[in-house]
Amino acid sequence: MIELADVSKVYRTTHGDVRAVDDVTLAINAGEFVALKGHSGSGKSTLLALLGGLALPSAGSVAVAGHDVGKLSSSERARFREENVGFVFQMFHLLPYLNVLDNVLVAAPAAARAASREYAKQLLSGFGMEERVSHRPNQLSVGERQRVAMARALLNRPKLLLADEPTGNLDEKNAEALLDFLGGFHREGGTIVLATHDDRAAERAERIIELSSGKLVSPAGSLS
Ligand code: ADP
Ligand code: MG
Repeated sequence: MIELADVSKVYRTTHGDVRAVDDVTLAINAGEFVALKGHSGSGKSTLLALLGGLALPSAGSVAVAGHDVGKLSSSERARFREENVGFVFQMFHLLPYLNVLDNVLVAAPAAARAASREYAKQLLSGFGMEERVSHRPNQLSVGERQRVAMARALLNRPKLLLADEPTGNLDEKNAEALLDFLGGFHREGGTIVLATHDDRAAERAERIIELSSGKLVSPAGSLS
């Protein structure tokens, strides 16, 4: 599903270069649930951005679902995301001026609006949100906002979910609900890469990959 070969990502800043991901080689199978652990600044978000085609590698190759993501044009990458990837972010990134249904439809490809609309309603009902489709995010509880974000992540029936510290700002109950959601997606065959420094979250994964200063920490090293 995912193959990274000698991947680096360098940000050029006025203070010099930051090697956010440093020569990472890694394979993740279809259907795997992997947790990406590491301190703040270790490169987790950058790695997820590379996997989702939101950032381009400075070196190396990023292959996801048969696409050489670093070689795609920006419109091809947008299409690649629509067809393959769902994102779950910390704080959910809902748009305050859109209602619940339209927040879910943000993820919809323009060509498939009508079909997406029906599926968005179905997903929201599945999350018990059918009475809330016309509400705006500020009229919702945290748990409800989270369910909107989950529906949005599933809208395009992704094979891969990328979750960036999704439990970072949640109380225990909502964190559990989010992890249950990821678990359900995984049980149905989906692939998940979950960036987190929450041990409880990482425990849900089948495999833990650790990053330190943009480099993979070898499994042997991480056991000590
Ligand atoms: P994590 O998600 O593990 O906290 P990040 O991937 O966000 O790590 O960041 C890795 C490193 O890259 C950090 O040193 C961070 O400051 C730097 N970084 C991230 N994004 C940018 C950017 N857009 N420009 C410059 N430096 C960045
Ligand atoms: Mg991060």
